[in-house]
Parts: sequence; C-alpha cells; structure tokens
Amino acid sequence: MEGEELLKHYRKTGLILFFGLTVITVLSCLHTTPQGPFDARDYTRIAGMRVEFHPWEALFEPLASPFLIPAGSPDFQVSCGIMIVWVLLAAAAWGMFAEFRAGRQNRSLRIWPILLKGIRSALVTGSTLMLIICLFVAGRIPGWRLVVDDPDLIVADLHCHTTKSPDALVTLKTNLKWHASCGYNVAALTEHNQLFAHETLMGADSSFDRLPAFISGLEAHTGPRTMLLGLCRDPQIPFEKQKVDEYPDRSAWFSNKIHEECGGAVIGLTLKRLAPGDIARLVDDGVDGFEIANSGHPEMGPDLRREVLDTCRARGIPLVASTDWHGWTGMSRAWTVIRAPGSSALSRSERANLVIRKLREHDSADIIPVVAGYMGDASLAHSIFSPIVETLRYAQELSAARVISWWIWTWAIFALWVFLYRIGIAPGGFLLGLLTCAVGLGLIAAGISLIGQGIVSAASYPIHFGLLPLGLGAGVLGYSIFSLVTLLRLRGGLRGHESPLSGS
Ligand SMILES: [Zn+2]
Repeated sequence: MEGEELLKHYRKTGLILFFGLTVITVLSCLHTTPQGPFDARDYTRIAGMRVEFHPWEALFEPLASPFLIPAGSPDFQVSCGIMIVWVLLAAAAWGMFAEFRAGRQNRSLRIWPILLKGIRSALVTGSTLMLIICLFVAGRIPGWRLVVDDPDLIVADLHCHTTKSPDALVTLKTNLKWHASCGYNVAALTEHNQLFAHETLMGADSSFDRLPAFISGLEAHTGPRTMLLGLCRDPQIPFEKQKVDEYPDRSAWFSNKIHEECGGAVIGLTLKRLAPGDIARLVDDGVDGFEIANSGHPEMGPDLRREVLDTCRARGIPLVASTDWHGWTGMSRAWTVIRAPGSSALSRSERANLVIRKLREHDSADIIPVVAGYMGDASLAHSIFSPIVETLRYAQELSAARVISWWIWTWAIFALWVFLYRIGIAPGGFLLGLLTCAVGLGLIAAGISLIGQGIVSAASYPIHFGLLPLGLGAGVLGYSIFSLVTLLRLRGGLRGHESPLSGS
C-alpha cells in the first residue's frame, strides 16, 4: 500500500483518534464529579472535601485506564468480569472482520482462517488486559485521595491489615505510608484473630512521626454469621481465637472484653451472610458502630443495608466506611471522617484515642462515612452494560492533567505507529511487544516489592504471593523481548504487504 491510499489510511485513523479524544475531553469538562465524595448513608454530596488522584498517576493514564474503569464501579469484581467478556467478544469480532476483509480482497473467503483469527485476536487482547489488571492488583499504585478543607477533621480507616494477619501483604510502615497517600491521618490495624501491639514494631524509627496515627485491634468471628472488629486503647492483653470461641454468647463477651479490658470500641462488619435481624441483636450485645461501606466487600444487599441504616438511626449508632485493605491494589474508596474541633493540635496517640472515644460515646452526629462513587449492589442492566457506563463515568472524573496525558500518549503512539510502518516493522505487533515489556517490568517490580515486604516482616504469605507476579513478569518480559527481536529481524519484509493499521 503506497502513496495516496496510505495517506488516506493515516488520515482516517487520525480522525477516529481525534474524535475519541475530543469525547473524553468534553466529558471531563462537564464537572459532574461522579466520584463524589458522598455520604455513604444516603449518597448525598459532602461539602468541604474532595477526592482527587495523585498527580503522577497522570504520567501513565492510558495504561491505568483498563484498571481504573472497573475499579470505580459499584462492585469491582462484577464489573471486571463483565469487562473482560466484552473485550474478548469485541476483539474476536474485530479479528474476524479483518480476516474476512482480507479474504474478500484476495478472493479466498474461508471460514476456518476467519474463526482462527477471531480466537487469536480474543486471546491476545484478553491476556494483555488481564496482565494490566494483574499489574494494578499486585502493584500498590494509589488511586483516590480524600482531601479535607478543615484541619480539625480526622480522616480514619477503621479496618485494615498488616503482615501480622496471615493473608495480608504489607508491613506496618508500608500500610501507614499508603494510608498517608490516600488522605488518612488515623488507621486501625485490625489483625485476624489476634491482638498485636504494633508500637513494638516502631523501635526508635522517627519516620513514623510523619505517618498517620494507628490503633491496634483485631477482627474476630463471634458467631456463624458475625465478625466484629475490636479497636483497642490498650492492646497488651492476650486475646486468642480459641478464647472467643469458648463462650456461647460470643458477641456480647467480645464487646465486653474490648470495652472493659482494652478500653476500646467495637465495630460490626456487615457481610452478606448477616441476617437483617442480627443488627439489633448486635447493638444489644454492645457493638458501637457498623460498616455501611467496605471497599473489600462492597456486595451488601439492599435489605441488609436498609436494616443497618434504620436500626442505627433509631439507636443512635455510628456508621463507618472502611477499606479492609490487605495490601492488594492501591485503590481507596472509603474513609470515616470524624468532626473533632481542636484535633489538629493533638498528638498522634491522642488523636487515635479520640477516635475510640467518639465511637464508644456513639457520637454518630460527628462520624461521617465517606465513599468515592456508589458502592454496593448494581442493577442487572447496569452490570451488563458496565463497560459503557463505567467508561463514561471514568471520562467524567478525569482531571486536566489526566486528559492531557491521553492526548500526548495517543499521538505519540500514533506517530510511532506510522514511523514503524515506514521503516518496515510490523507496527501492531511491535507496539504490543513494547506494552507487554513495560507490563512485564512492572510485574517484576511489584513481585520484588511484595517479597521484600515478606522478608522485612518475616511473613511467608507476601513472599509466596510475590513469586507469582515475579514469575509472570519474567515470562512476559522474556517473550516480549523475543517478539520484538523477531519483528526487528523481519524488518523490510512488511512494506507493500500489510496495511499500517492491520496489527501484527
Ligand atoms: Zn478485615
């Protein structure tokens, strides 16, 4: 393909890209801020605070978009699954159409090559998308950050984990650094089934002074359907799993022990298995507050949600929004904001104790659960069309820097595409190779970081889990380099045989 026809191809593609970028730009200028922040109790917008992205995230915005689009949906897992199905079907259709067109031009239309091209196209696109999502799940790339105007507002995460829990990936320091990057100034470290005095990990390290205050606590099963968090002022008392299980009325016993012996407060998890009738019973048992939003478990059903809201309003029980962060992904969507006049002048430990006191006193007027975007059950139609709905939402959230990133990356890749074609290298395959090279390197870095977390804290789970992205990244990087070298060696054999836009 030469001369005028080639120029027509470039112009057509340039126009499509320009149109897409213009749509993104217009949507971002609408200032609809679909991410809020919202009060998680009634989804009204909250004044005096905003959610924003880290400025440096804009540097690789288009790469992050396949993760950020489903990450802001009501239920990440549902959206992610549906998006992958859509992408597989679209890639297969695109591959089959390209083969059909090529076959028609060569007057050799056969069904099997068309089907095989569709399957290959779906596999390549689907696996690339999965690799990008894996990178953002294993790598802690920060998402939303809550910024509050009033310095006397305490921004807390009342439920998260460190490597003291058997299924968490990050050390105390990494946990607190991440919380700082997402706008928190207090974090409750609620380890599974054991109370651990985290201050023993600080030693003489003065860098902790600049990190959020923390509360040591635990998360325990207190019944077949119930899980409670104990936030402790004094975490020195022994608290083992079997002791909780020994008592028939475990929620009441647990609450009493946390209140009396640890000087603490109790928060109830609102997991899916909880029956609506359990809420009032748990309040009677001494629970001081409930999670109305949990980033790790966003799937609370409407009946339970109504029951939690009604019971807690009637009984004056505070509601909180927590991350349940174990070290997976860097996304944060839930914050508990506590109004506490004069708290900016308090020391870190005084601020942590104030949070416990506010919970114990059931100060629900001053405790606001805050979320970025809607979290929870979505309608069937919303779920099925979530790739479109969430892409529109994502575009409306974009800041000026993130939109500029889209423009720069798109035109840079387009220019590289044209350049590669002109020097005789298959542009689609080469650019895909560069992309997977970058993702492979990112996965290796994420794996090394996780293994480092395990070594520092003598925990085996981050080491075992870190080997996965490390091995996957090494494999992807090796294969990508091999593909790139092969394409470079084939240089020159392309011109005149392939459209500049027909892929590898
Ligand atoms: Zn948890």
